[in-house]
Amino acid sequence: MSVAAERMGRILPSQTIAITQKARALKAEGRDIISLSAGEPDFDTPAFIKEAAIEAIRAGETKYTDVAGTPALRQAIAAALKRDFDLDYSPEEICVSTGGKQVICNVMTATLNPGDEVIIPAPAWVSYPDIVRLADGHPVVVQTAPETGFRLTAAQLEEAITPRTRWLVLNSPCNPTGSAYTTDELQALAEVLLAHPDIWILTDDIYAKLLYDGHRAVTLAQVEPRLKERTVTMNGVSKAYAMTGWRIGFSAAPLELTRQLVKLQGQSTSNTCSIAQAAAVAALSGPQDCIDEMVEVYRQRRDLVVDRLSTVPGLSCARPEGAFYVFVSLKDLLGKKTPAGKELQSDEDFVQALLEETGVATVPGTAFLTPGYFRVSYATATELLEEACRRIRRFCESLT
Ligand code: PLP
Repeated sequence: MSVAAERMGRILPSQTIAITQKARALKAEGRDIISLSAGEPDFDTPAFIKEAAIEAIRAGETKYTDVAGTPALRQAIAAALKRDFDLDYSPEEICVSTGGKQVICNVMTATLNPGDEVIIPAPAWVSYPDIVRLADGHPVVVQTAPETGFRLTAAQLEEAITPRTRWLVLNSPCNPTGSAYTTDELQALAEVLLAHPDIWILTDDIYAKLLYDGHRAVTLAQVEPRLKERTVTMNGVSKAYAMTGWRIGFSAAPLELTRQLVKLQGQSTSNTCSIAQAAAVAALSGPQDCIDEMVEVYRQRRDLVVDRLSTVPGLSCARPEGAFYVFVSLKDLLGKKTPAGKELQSDEDFVQALLEETGVATVPGTAFLTPGYFRVSYATATELLEEACRRIRRFCESLT
């Protein structure tokens, strides 16, 4: 008999993590590898944030905190949501968790009954469907189109709704496309949702601070206040403040749901790390120009990658509004052969051959529920990106 529970058969290991690990292993063997696969800023956490953590250790802030997070952090989050989105949440409506990932796990576990449906617009972050399946729910994947900037339309939403729909997950800017919804687009989705009062909405705003060319972050609860009473506004410090390892994410949601999230967390992980919480207070309340500096570098890198890759024969991509990813179509290269003689029948073949034959690690679109593409993360040093783009071009040009 297998040691694994039946529910483990419903999920797959994260493909992003698997590819990153394979790239690491090849590097350890001495291969010259450039990894564009991880969804992680290459910047160090800003010094003032690290100092706050060191200070917290010295001050003895090394004990359990409230399950939902320290009052200081929940206050800082409420103030940041007001500053950044003009949203009014009280500290009691906020629950701090071990990264945005735990927020989503908590939300789905606390609310789904077997067979409940969760609408996930694709391309989508790898973890949403598996988190839903682990919580006994049923992911309903809606494929969005490049023509609408990979954004869900009101008509698509309406069509996907059934009597079993419990949640819509919205991720803007999106991992993997970098696509961000405008206020008008959110308003159009809101009109549909207002007519379906039993559906809740999880807005994953983890990349909201990483926007370029004057785009401003907007989130559903801000655009349509009537939906705030059934929206979970999710965010965290991982991406915006280069704090992936600190594991701080948070939800802002109606009290009734927040109480359930805190109850669940109290019987699973309890509070997230007290020292990381002190660092997050500094991040959210301190000077925000560290983000502007990172955003300017990301923007330059985005332009570099888009300019180089969109002119490679067989590849095409849009210029994304935010996050640090470019989602590149390779459909025109399917069926071709690599110099090593491998036939490219899928995006997974392409990504594997690109890694083995050129040392560039990326993630196949299939991992984001959208075959025919690969995702490049440009949260990597500019010189490495230049070299990676050269290798990708040479590889694509060498296909026959
Ligand atoms: N949501 C999206 C779309 C992501 O890409 C990620 C991380 O890759 C997360 C949530 C989770 O972030 P964390 O758990 O590091 O806060």
